Amino acid sequence: MSTIYEKKLNDFMAKVIAKNPSEVEFHQAVHEVVESLIPFIEENPQYSEAKILERMVEPERVILFRVPWADDKGEVHINKGYRIEMNSAIGPYKGGLRFHPTVNLGILKFLAFEQVYKNSLTTLPMGGGKGGSDFDPKGKSDFEVMRFCQSFMTELFRHIGPNTDVPAGDIGVGGREIGYLFGQYKRLRNEFTGVLTGKGIEWGGSLIRPEATGYGTVYFAEEMLKTRNDSLKGKTITISGSGNVAQYATQKANEFGGKVVTLSDSNGFIHDPEGIDDEKLAYVMHLKNIKRGRISEYVEKYPNANYVDGERPWSVPCEVALPCATQNEINEEEARILIKNGCFVISEGANMPSTPEAVEVYLENKILYGPGKAANAGGVSTSGLEMTQNSMRISWTREEVDARLHTIMKDIHETCVKYGKQEDGFINYVNGANIGGFVKVADAMLAQGLV
Ligand code: NDP
Repeated sequence: MSTIYEKKLNDFMAKVIAKNPSEVEFHQAVHEVVESLIPFIEENPQYSEAKILERMVEPERVILFRVPWADDKGEVHINKGYRIEMNSAIGPYKGGLRFHPTVNLGILKFLAFEQVYKNSLTTLPMGGGKGGSDFDPKGKSDFEVMRFCQSFMTELFRHIGPNTDVPAGDIGVGGREIGYLFGQYKRLRNEFTGVLTGKGIEWGGSLIRPEATGYGTVYFAEEMLKTRNDSLKGKTITISGSGNVAQYATQKANEFGGKVVTLSDSNGFIHDPEGIDDEKLAYVMHLKNIKRGRISEYVEKYPNANYVDGERPWSVPCEVALPCATQNEINEEEARILIKNGCFVISEGANMPSTPEAVEVYLENKILYGPGKAANAGGVSTSGLEMTQNSMRISWTREEVDARLHTIMKDIHETCVKYGKQEDGFINYVNGANIGGFVKVADAMLAQGLV
């Protein structure tokens, strides 16, 4: 980057940091996007004159609220509730809800900011938002989770709606939580509408929505590999996480002929050199989704695998890595180890799983690196398809939704190539996703005036 651009970037970031102190993940997400955009905006001054970037880093609205609830023993608990309505230039706010004890304003603002670009890349009419709570569903009974969700929605319902803001799931918010949230919304509003996505199939959900993020991440990896006349067939794949995204990434990777050798959770990871085939995956799904157990239990069932406590899976040699757990889960040192051991494809199922230093390492080594806002956009794309089906009051078949998802992931890949291909032929997917996501939102903001 030239010194002029660097100065502009530093000046811009200094203001963002001063206005949003201590929101480190938000600073990180903004820095990455603005670094890609500054040269592009210099060549297209209509965006700088209208201060589009300055407007984009300021959420349209931030809602903060108290969530009181009582546990099974009658003890009272108070959590924080949030909804960040970041940008509605191209459609209603859209983005997940995260329930995790680490949730804070900075994390949700980073996620909402990323969501704006991601949603734009999907080609569907969705603005960006994100929300959640510092509530920890782990170890809570179903009744406790239900009471919490009802209390959360009792405030949130007045701010959302099918044409205003349509939340979905994220970490800690799966089918069970969406059900309780939807039930309370319906009760308060007395209307049955598509206000949330990720709903059950019997009550307005879309087939393939649970699978979509993981499947999409694998489709994106396959598209990247195609640019080098290669494929996932026969590749050794490491995956982190063992939740929704990790599970379906494993399933699709198996279908493409890859061999998935790791999964993890916040306590440690398992390494199964023989591969986590569909039968073993079915066990993991039961363990995580029904029993709500820990990934360490895998080695009791499959003793040829080993469990490493307190570590992440990136020391295990692989050609393809799919980080599917959480933000900043691959640092510079881990990125170097991955590449040293032969990894040349990273497709991010999680949001911002690589630190900026790790991303530098990927770009220096010119590996195939698909950043989350492109590679994990399959989830929100299928949420968009769920909204369409709700509006039309129809439901598409599995094959139809999957085919649409696959096409969208290919289109996102094309957009990244269009905006990210360098003169030497290397595809910088970071620039491609950031610029590709920016243009549509920025043009809509210009057209709609100063709002
Ligand atoms: P889940 O709650 O289903 O699973 C999350 C997994 O990541 C669990 O295995 C969890 O382990 C692990 N994890 C969570 N926090 C940490 C942490 N701090 N350190 C280590 N491991 C952690 O969530 P999802 O699978 O839905 O989401 C995973 C990622 O994908 C997130 O970054 C999310 O934002 C992103 N994403 C999700 C989409 C979706 O459709 N669900 C869409 C696009 C992106 P444990 O059980 O121990 O908590």
